[in-house]
Amino acid sequence: MDLWYVQSYLKDYTMGLKVKETLFVGKSPLQEIAVIDTCLYGKILLLDGVVQLSERDEFMYHEMLVHPAMVTHPHPERVCIVGGGDGGAAREVLRHPVSEVVLVDIDAEVIEVCRKYFPQVGSWDDPRLQVVVDDAVKYIARCKTQFDVIIMDSTDPFPRGVAESLFSKEFFRDAYDHLTEEGVLVSQMEPPFFDRERVEMLWRNLDVFPLLRLYWGMVPTYPGGVWSYILASKKNDPLTSMKPLPFPTRYYSQAIHQAAFTLPVFLEEMFRK
Ligand code: SAM
Repeated sequence: MDLWYVQSYLKDYTMGLKVKETLFVGKSPLQEIAVIDTCLYGKILLLDGVVQLSERDEFMYHEMLVHPAMVTHPHPERVCIVGGGDGGAAREVLRHPVSEVVLVDIDAEVIEVCRKYFPQVGSWDDPRLQVVVDDAVKYIARCKTQFDVIIMDSTDPFPRGVAESLFSKEFFRDAYDHLTEEGVLVSQMEPPFFDRERVEMLWRNLDVFPLLRLYWGMVPTYPGGVWSYILASKKNDPLTSMKPLPFPTRYYSQAIHQAAFTLPVFLEEMFRK
């Protein structure tokens, strides 16, 4: 008999994937962690039953989360990753000539499981990477470093979930204060077509930044297949300040960068600043 993983984290929407094998199921003090091997996407990490990454399309998400912000800042040296316990965002940041990357994830067990089941995703041995296990809200509040780029790669802002306070006005103000003069923050967003209210709330909470841009890209394993991101910048506009990447990529390119910030009319109307 076929075994199917069914995700229904959005009301009225279900996604199903045929499972070859369940590789790991466990519970940390904060969340349920599982790894399944699927016929279509290879291994998938689930947190509280929600897909976080798949082997086959994680490059699409991580390249699009990281590179637009990294090319908008003229010379990013210090980068903070909020969440990102699978290591994929840090891997992409470390391809840039940065001096320091701090990855702050609240759950040490996610990092452990990912290092074991997805060893190819992270660049854990890079000496420029520092891993901190803490709630990023508390870490940023007490941290003395000023970062050039802050990358938010956390779980979704479900009410009463571990990530909820990361999407608050207070956190974004604090993040703003921990960014250098030309600092850039980027966050993954909910799918705007399905979850308009939540995306609009996040957009409003980020209004401490003078420049906000919504952009989008394909991630087939996420609900709807199209994911969105918000880039919040103190000074530079990603549409005019970008520079070419000095290394090859599989999804991101200069043409994709321009295209990603071009929104369909209904989104353009919702997210204009
Ligand atoms: N790409 C992903 C997605 O599907 O949205 C995110 C993947 S990454 C594994 C998400 C990480 O955010 C998890 O490891 C989780 O422990 C971490 N996280 C959630 N809330 C956090 C918080 N308040 N501070 C730091 N890390 C947090």
